[in-house]
Amino acid sequence: MAEIVLSGVTKRFPDGSLAVQGVDLDIADGEFVILVGPSGCGKSTTLNMIAGLEDITEGTLSIGDRVVNDLPPKDRDIAMVFQSYALYPHLSVRENMGFPLRLAKVDKATVNQKVEEAARVLDLSEFLDRRPAALSGGQRQRVAMGRAIVRDPKAFLMDEPLSNLDAKLRVQMRTQIARLQRRLGTTTVYVTHDQTEAMTLGDRVVVMRLGVVQQVGTPAQLYDLPRNLFVAGFIGSPAMNFLNATVEGSILHSALGDLPLDDRTRQALERQNAPREVIVGLRPEAFEDAALAHDAHGPVITATIDVLESLGSDVYVYFTQEGGPAQSAELEELATDSGLKDTGAGGVQQVVARLDAATRAREGQPLDMRVDMSKAHVFDPRTGTNLS
Ligand code: ATP
Repeated sequence: MAEIVLSGVTKRFPDGSLAVQGVDLDIADGEFVILVGPSGCGKSTTLNMIAGLEDITEGTLSIGDRVVNDLPPKDRDIAMVFQSYALYPHLSVRENMGFPLRLAKVDKATVNQKVEEAARVLDLSEFLDRRPAALSGGQRQRVAMGRAIVRDPKAFLMDEPLSNLDAKLRVQMRTQIARLQRRLGTTTVYVTHDQTEAMTLGDRVVVMRLGVVQQVGTPAQLYDLPRNLFVAGFIGSPAMNFLNATVEGSILHSALGDLPLDDRTRQALERQNAPREVIVGLRPEAFEDAALAHDAHGPVITATIDVLESLGSDVYVYFTQEGGPAQSAELEELATDSGLKDTGAGGVQQVVARLDAATRAREGQPLDMRVDMSKAHVFDPRTGTNLS
C-alpha cells in the first residue's frame, strides 16, 4: 500500500516564515492528487516534505503505513519529476532512464529490460541512443518520466513538470500523464499553479493559499461547491463574477439590479444568520441570452456589451454595471492576492457572461440576459465563507 498521510504537517523556515501550516491530507493508494494555488502558497514545500527534501517542523508524514519524518529521501521509495527534468546531458536516453536502477546496483539485463519497457510505454523506443540535447522539450519530459517509472516506486511526486513546454504540448502531455498514471495505478502527488491543469488531471485537488489548505475535493466539488471566496475565484476560467450585494428578505440588491434569491439559498442564509452585506458570486454560465433561454425562470437583466469574444462554440460577453454597493476591501484584496481580474471599484462592477454561440449580442448594443439564481453563491465578506 502506498497511502500517503499528512497530519498537522507544518513548515517553518529558519528565517521564521511559516510556509505550510497544519496540513491534514489523506492520499489513497493509487490516487492522483493535485496541489494547486498561487505562487508562494506552499505547494512545493509540501511536496518537498513528502519527498524528504525539506524537514518537517511539526506534524507527521507517513507513506504506506510507516512514519517517514526522519527517513532520508533515498529510502522513501518515491520518484520525483521536476520542471527542469534534471537529465544528464552527457548520457544517452537509455543511460538517463536506467540511472536510478544502476545506482541501486540492479543487474544490467534487468535495467535494459525495464528501460525498454518504459520507453515503449512512453513512445521513446526510437530515441534510446540519443542525448537529451537532440530531443524536443516534450521528449525530454518523457525521458524524465521514464526515469521515474523504471524504479516502480511507491509514489510519483511531480513539481510543475509541464511548465517548460509550450501551451499545445502541455495539453498533449497532460493527457499522456493522466493516461500513464491510470495505467500504472501509482499514487501521484502533482504540483501546479495552473487551475485548468489541476481540474483536468486530478482525482482530487487540494487548493492552498498562504500555507493553508482551503479545500480538498474532486474537480466537480470545487467548481460547484467552493467553500470560500478564494476557492470560488481561483477555480474556473473565466473566473466567477463577484458583486457586492445587500440582502433584504428574499431580494439581493446588487449592481445587476434586484435579484430574487431561490428558496434553497434564502433558507441557507436565514439558517446561518447571514449578514445584510454579502458578496454574490455568479459563474459566467449562470447567464443566458434571454431571447434563447431554455428556461423562463429567473430575473432578466439588461446590459450594454463592452467586449465580445467568440470561441466558436461559446461567446464571452463582458459588461460593466453601475450602481449597487461599492467594492469591498475584502474583494479588492482577494482579486489582488489571487491574480483574479479587477472586479472594479466604487460601485462599477465588471461582469463576464458565457452565452450560446447563437446569441445576437453585439458590442455596444444592449442585451437582455436571464440569470439562473439557482447557480448563485452568497459569501460572507468578513470571513469569505460560502453561505449558500
Ligand atoms: P511557486 O509556485 O512560486 O513555486 P509555491 O506555492 O510552490 O510557489 P513554496 O515554494 O512552497 O511556494 O514557498 C512557500 C513560501 O515559503 C513562500 O513564501 C516562500 O517564499 C517561502 N520559502 C520557500 N523556501 C524558503 C526558504 N528556503 N527559506 C525561507 N522561506 C522559504
